Amino acid sequence: MIELIVFLLGLSIGSFLNVCIYRIPRGESISFPPSHCTNCNKSIKAYDLVPVVSYIFLKGRCRYCGEKISIKYPLIELITGIVFVVIYIKYGLTIECLKFFFLVSFLILVGIIDYNSMDVYAVTIHSALICGLFFLGVNMYMNLPVKTYIIGAIIGGGVIAIIIILFGGMGWGDAEMCAFCGLYIGVKLTLLMLFLSVNIGAIVAVTNILLKRKTRKDPMPLCPSIAFGTFICIIWGEKILTWYFNNLLFF
Ligand SMILES: [Zn+2]
Repeated sequence: MIELIVFLLGLSIGSFLNVCIYRIPRGESISFPPSHCTNCNKSIKAYDLVPVVSYIFLKGRCRYCGEKISIKYPLIELITGIVFVVIYIKYGLTIECLKFFFLVSFLILVGIIDYNSMDVYAVTIHSALICGLFFLGVNMYMNLPVKTYIIGAIIGGGVIAIIIILFGGMGWGDAEMCAFCGLYIGVKLTLLMLFLSVNIGAIVAVTNILLKRKTRKDPMPLCPSIAFGTFICIIWGEKILTWYFNNLLFF
């Protein structure tokens, strides 16, 4: 039952993320004007804003002008809903769970904007950092660990910064994203996150080149890989680390 509520919460957050993903790169306000069709500009009625359901009901078209609405919108809503449920199942009704709801929202936001536009926007990084600092404050108040998250942020941002300075190939937006991820997941998981993100990024790049969708010289967005790597850490990070230290460390 709670899973269903969490899923619906995820769907509506996903719907809000869609607005941010569309408007932030265009420099538009995320609160005004209210949702409207990007083709005919008619504002969308409240009952047509129900995530996923209205998309299916309207067969993926605008009620007024019939313009096709991208499948990306309901997909992002669905992904957010599913990811929220997975986090809830793992962490239960805890502060950690709430913190990771925020983190994955920022992961989806930054990851997809970078995928669409090859750009990372300061407003998204700043919001993620401020929110992460808020949860650090909560930890301080509750006498829970604090240092690991600060070091996580420094290492997350620092390692990517060093790679950029020495080798290039990544952007400062990637470093900023790894810094805010570190602030939420702590130093141990940050190290795993860096390892996973860089490897996922490499696999995606090689696949794109083999499929001739990109050439070696094309820039490729890394934030989606960082988002994916961080999500794996949130859900399976501890398990992966335990397995690694038990099985592979001594080879
Ligand atoms: Zn329309």
